[in-house]
Parts: sequence; C-alpha cells; structure tokens
Amino acid sequence: MDILEKLVHSAKTKLGQEKLGKRKINCPDYRNFLENIADKKCPDCGQELKLFKADIKKQDNVGQVAYEFNCGHKHLEVCVSENIKIWESYKAKSRKGESKPYSVSLTKTEPGINPKSVDGVSNSWVADRGNNLWVHIIKDIKTGKILHEERMPLNEHKK
Ligand SMILES: [Zn+2]
Repeated sequence: MDILEKLVHSAKTKLGQEKLGKRKINCPDYRNFLENIADKKCPDCGQELKLFKADIKKQDNVGQVAYEFNCGHKHLEVCVSENIKIWESYKAKSRKGESKPYSVSLTKTEPGINPKSVDGVSNSWVADRGNNLWVHIIKDIKTGKILHEERMPLNEHKK
C-alpha cells in the first residue's frame, strides 16, 4: 500500500468505526475531511487527491499526519488515544482563489476543564481573513451545550 492508499484506508476505517458506534467524530469539519479523503478528493477544492507530501508521525499514544496536496492545500490531523477515549484535532488552511487571503480553522476534542463535561469538550475556532471574522466555540460533547461562544471582527481579536 502506498501512503495515499494508507491514508484513504485509515479515513474509511474511522468513518466505519463511527457507523458502528465505536468511535465518535464530534466535529463536522473533521468528518467532512475524512469523507473527502475516503473519496480521494481534496476537502478544500474537490480536486482529485494527489499527495505532494505527507508527514506521518507516531509516538506513544499520539498520531499525527500533516497532509500537503498537489493543489496546494494543507491539513493537519492529530489523534491522541487516552484509555478508551480518542481526542482528535484537525486544522485546515484554505483559500478561495489565488490572491485571496487564507482562512485557518482548528477543531479539537479534549478533556473539559469543567468536571461535569465527562465526555470532554469540542473546541473550535476559525480565523477567516477574507471576511475579517473570528469565531470561537466550546461545546460539551455529551450534551451539545455551548459553554463558550465568541464572535468578533478578526482585527479586533488580535492578542
Ligand atoms: Zn485542494
């Protein structure tokens, strides 16, 4: 199996595990990413998937793949397995059209700070330079309750 085949296979496996209830994918962007990979398409532009570079790292309980496609889009996928839980994080950089600025988004699932969030939280943010928008949302995975929500012009968010 070459690297692309392996990655497609792993995306299909994750989606299959979710169907069987063995895994939870809590972030729609990440699911969309996996579905596109399983379909051999770039999640950003829909072009046929051709890997320019894939950097795969595995250490202890952390698996990380940095994808770079021939169309120029980059994605980063990180999975941390902890006992029976799997925390996932997914980062995408995309741009529409060559001259337009990037939008960068990150979604991850992680143990919540609040002990009531037994299944952890999903933490996601988007820095959309094209629309000058910053959105940050933290949700309880189990209840779906929004614990934190922030929307503001990106240029006012700079810290
Ligand atoms: Zn692309």
